Amino acid sequence: IRKKLIAGNWKMNKTSADAATLVAEIVAEVGKQADVDVVVCPPFTSLETAGKALDGSSIKLGAQNLHPEKNGAYTGEISAEMLRALFVNFVIVGHSERRTYFGDTDAFVNQKVLAALKNQLKPILCVGETLAEREGSQTLKVVQTQLEAGLEGVSKELATSVVIAYEPVWAIGTGKVATTEQAQEVHAFIRSLLVKLFGEAVAQKVRILYGGSMKPANAPELLAQKDIDGGLIGGAALESRSFVELIKAAA
Ligand code: 13P
Repeated sequence: IRKKLIAGNWKMNKTSADAATLVAEIVAEVGKQADVDVVVCPPFTSLETAGKALDGSSIKLGAQNLHPEKNGAYTGEISAEMLRALFVNFVIVGHSERRTYFGDTDAFVNQKVLAALKNQLKPILCVGETLAEREGSQTLKVVQTQLEAGLEGVSKELATSVVIAYEPVWAIGTGKVATTEQAQEVHAFIRSLLVKLFGEAVAQKVRILYGGSMKPANAPELLAQKDIDGGLIGGAALESRSFVELIKAAA
């Protein structure tokens, strides 16, 4: 029912020349992949180059952040309109690195989600608990707060354009992947919250990605879970071989 989605979050990696090379390699291998939706999210400086290299393929372009305002005196920021002009389709919002290092609050994340949707960008809303929160049995509570706050004011009609990414903070870049049971439990919980917010039919259409040390070796088991609809990949998206393998694992 839900088409799997594999998204690469390159974070602060790759110059635009490196991006052109990596995207060309991915396109050569899986550029016509029809069974899986594929998104690459390079840094802003590589969006244009990456977009050109993706042209004619089925792979979509994503950004890693946006500012909610349309334009104005926001030094260093990028608007939804600017992203649309570069043929960006997706945008990562509320990544834990932005929450931790750049002070993105739930309210600000919510503004970004709304701005993305208003401009026909599909937000990939990231939620997830820290290790201390998991050990304190706060996982579901934290995820619920981030999800409900992040989606406040989103209409039923636009909710199907939203992608959720469950990324346990302790699993990001650490090599510690959540067990399939841990991940599926949270994914099913997120789905139940989506049912409450938007109703069953909409909730069944929303894709919920897992993120956090996802690799070709652990992907098949994770992707086989009922409520895991794809992956948001960091490290393994920086090299075409592993990223392509992940896409094939989702097909
Ligand atoms: P890693 O795959 O490197 O753990 O990163 C996950 C992530 O943060 C994707 O957004």
